[in-house]
Amino acid sequence: MHLTIGWLYAASMNIYGDRGNVIALKRRAEWRGISTTLHEINIGEPIPDDIDCFFWGGGQDQEQVAVAQDMQGAKGKTLAAAIEDGASLLAVCGGYQLLGHEYRPHAAEILPGVGIFDAVSVAGPERFIGNVVVDSAWGPLVGFENHSGLTTLGPNLEPMGKVRVGRGNNGKDGTEGARYRNALGCYLHGALLPKNPALTDWLIERGLERRYGKVELQPIDDDVEQLAHVTAVDRAVATR
Ligand code: GLN
Repeated sequence: MHLTIGWLYAASMNIYGDRGNVIALKRRAEWRGISTTLHEINIGEPIPDDIDCFFWGGGQDQEQVAVAQDMQGAKGKTLAAAIEDGASLLAVCGGYQLLGHEYRPHAAEILPGVGIFDAVSVAGPERFIGNVVVDSAWGPLVGFENHSGLTTLGPNLEPMGKVRVGRGNNGKDGTEGARYRNALGCYLHGALLPKNPALTDWLIERGLERRYGKVELQPIDDDVEQLAHVTAVDRAVATR
């Protein structure tokens, strides 16, 4: 099997270790003998039609302005069609916000989103900064948040999970992130995937299934990942 990864805006939206998510996707596929290709898709570049799994990292408000413009029109439609067709995707923070209908930063025009998530984000009065633990379908997920955007999910949009530690989508409704088909959005930097291997494997499996039908990755030695996960969760709970 072969996994093709699409890294959206690698050059302009890649903060707080987000690159680690792409490395985790590649390595955990390759450790199972699955070869990989990585396409970096930046401003002005089209989305190839063979992407199985997408990653879109975070970015400061000023980076999001040009990216939001770049995703209007055909590019956003291509991404939405790939998600409708079952491609997997993880978007973090600024990328997550631009997958909604719009993001209203503090000191800039409203940024139009791609509209894959029925959600809206508006910059709030304070920045949410700190460790986060989220109870989810993949077990407890642990990461780090740093955002002023507050995200409100539409009535039919499922959250990624429930906040146990941290502020999450908006610090009010206890939700974190969003899930639509095999697309996940969240505020979890860190990077998220290296210390949450179950989620990484889920994204790889969903990405492959579109091409190969039902896929179940063989188990690998996760001792280090599990130790990192448990240590990070304990630390987040202890310092909340
Ligand atoms: N600029 C956005 C905000 O402040 C996203 C920040 C980020 O990606 N960490 O909410």
